[in-house]
Amino acid sequence: MKQIILTGDRPTGRLHVGHYVGSLKERVKLQNSGNYDEIYIMIADAQALTDNAEHPEKVRQNIMQVALDYLACGLDPEKSTIFIQSMIPELTELTFYYMNLVTVSRVQRNPTVKAEIQMRNFEASIPVGFFCYPISQAADITAFRATSVPVGEDQMPMIEQCKEIVHKFNSVYGETLTEPKIVLPSNQACLRLPGIDGKAKMSKSLGNCIYLSDESEDIRTKIMSMFTDPNHIRVQDPGKVEGNPVFIYLDAFCRPEHFEEFLPDYNNLDELKAHYQRGGLGDVKVKKFLNNVIQSELEPIRNRRKMWEKNLPDVYDILKKGSAAARETAAKTLDDVRHSMRIDYF
Ligand code: ATP
Ligand code: MG
Repeated sequence: MKQIILTGDRPTGRLHVGHYVGSLKERVKLQNSGNYDEIYIMIADAQALTDNAEHPEKVRQNIMQVALDYLACGLDPEKSTIFIQSMIPELTELTFYYMNLVTVSRVQRNPTVKAEIQMRNFEASIPVGFFCYPISQAADITAFRATSVPVGEDQMPMIEQCKEIVHKFNSVYGETLTEPKIVLPSNQACLRLPGIDGKAKMSKSLGNCIYLSDESEDIRTKIMSMFTDPNHIRVQDPGKVEGNPVFIYLDAFCRPEHFEEFLPDYNNLDELKAHYQRGGLGDVKVKKFLNNVIQSELEPIRNRRKMWEKNLPDVYDILKKGSAAARETAAKTLDDVRHSMRIDYF
């Protein structure tokens, strides 16, 4: 069986380091592993419109921002098909047929939908399109016959819902669709990176982000103002590392060679954590280390982004070619779907 990846992001803002460790970095690794026959990376503008209907310009502009972030991180248009969701109308038609296979109460039970409705204060006024986005996501995944979906942990309920739709479709209309599996980052700290406020997950909609395109000075300011353990007041106080965002970020980003380069008094993160826990290690020293670690990871990304920013027509061309190729694949699946449903009348 062909190994196929489908994943993507909503163009609601520039991408941040939560996207990077939770999904982007994994995608680039999978892309370069040579283990996949086809890779589709979707900029989900239609999905972004489900809760931004009144801000189409914001969505339109962020398509380019997300594309730049992709290229900056090492997604390679020679190996991955990068495309814009709304340019593939076949996805909308698939969604319409799948809607008949899902009950309202099933979508209401989806924990991610529940959390997002709450976060957006949608309780009394959920747009129907937003409510249905897990179904449209199933259309995106199945249209490309994806076998693997590398995403963050918050997407787990979406993949479950997609699998249910695949089973239902295949049992009603005959074996047609391919069941996907989720690919999560192996590093626990990357599953759901908290924001710099340490409260919720880092999210474009919450404004608690370090963006991949942030300038070095802004990153430093954000890191130095990060929350730590509120009871770690004086240097000599024992500190907590569990739930401390600075240490969660170190878990997500730091590698042994970073100690050699930036903090040679320690051999590894366990030693640093142990010192913090027993007391005698100040927040400023840890934050400075974290700043060095993140700066060294983001600098090459930012430089590559600046290079692509000077070549926007090339980026448009990549999106245009990617969308044309993606549309061909989705159209084939839609033909199969209509055939199985016996609505391929002429
Ligand atoms: P929005 O607020 O518009 O929903 P978002 O920041 O949640 O934006 P998405 O476009 O919804 O970003 O998510 C894109 C991908 O990044 C998904 O695979 C998601 O699981 C992953 N992701 C998003 N935020 C994080 C995070 N804080 N930690 C790990 N992975 C994340
Ligand atoms: Mg989201």
